Amino acid sequence: MIELLIFRTGGVEIGRSSFVPGASEAKSFAPVWSALLRTPEGNILFDTGLHPVHIERPDATFGPGSLKVVMAKEDAIVARLASLGLRPDEIAVVVNSHLHFDHAGNNGAFPKATFVVQAEHLGFAKGKPNFPGVYWDIPELSYLPTSGRARVAPGVEVVPTPGHAPGHQSLVVDLAETGRVVLCGDAAFTRENLERGEIRAPDEPTAKESLALIRSLVKDDLDRVFTSHDAASWPRWKHAPDTYR
Ligand SMILES: [Zn+2]
Repeated sequence: MIELLIFRTGGVEIGRSSFVPGASEAKSFAPVWSALLRTPEGNILFDTGLHPVHIERPDATFGPGSLKVVMAKEDAIVARLASLGLRPDEIAVVVNSHLHFDHAGNNGAFPKATFVVQAEHLGFAKGKPNFPGVYWDIPELSYLPTSGRARVAPGVEVVPTPGHAPGHQSLVVDLAETGRVVLCGDAAFTRENLERGEIRAPDEPTAKESLALIRSLVKDDLDRVFTSHDAASWPRWKHAPDTYR
């Protein structure tokens, strides 16, 4: 029996126009989150969230005038896991959707874990300033480069959903009571992306194909997708310690 718990690791002040073409540029809070999967084969973490350096210095990563990070002490992922009774070394596997700083910011906190990332994405992100290596390109970490759909554990599968970045992946989880859910990563920032089939992305045609794939994975039941930075959907979801089963 797999249990899924979702928790906030901070947020960003951002205009909806960064997510949906033609939407408002007015900045508002958008959550950043990670998920814990408790499985019979061990604990799996999906994305590692924002690094706590941003609590004191919101512009620590990209400098003054950059994307504004909003982060409180309790958002630090190690604190979130501790509140669920877990230490970092009890995480067996980390799946990164991709290696942007709000999805891989605490990879360094999990030196005992195996990191599942698409090989294509690892190659793309390495050395690029907008994928700061300080958070993920760390010699002590074990990356398992994958190619295409791959089973992480029974009922847990990574599925490539590129467009936001080459080799971006989502996590598909088959839950006993809830059914199949998709943790989208930035393949879908908001439910609106999936409803409209439109999204801002470096490669928009490919990103639109990924939106269609996500919809097909849940047979168009958008209550079973967890989009990455979705202020409107967030209050409707269960948050840890509440659990999806
Ligand atoms: Zn993101």
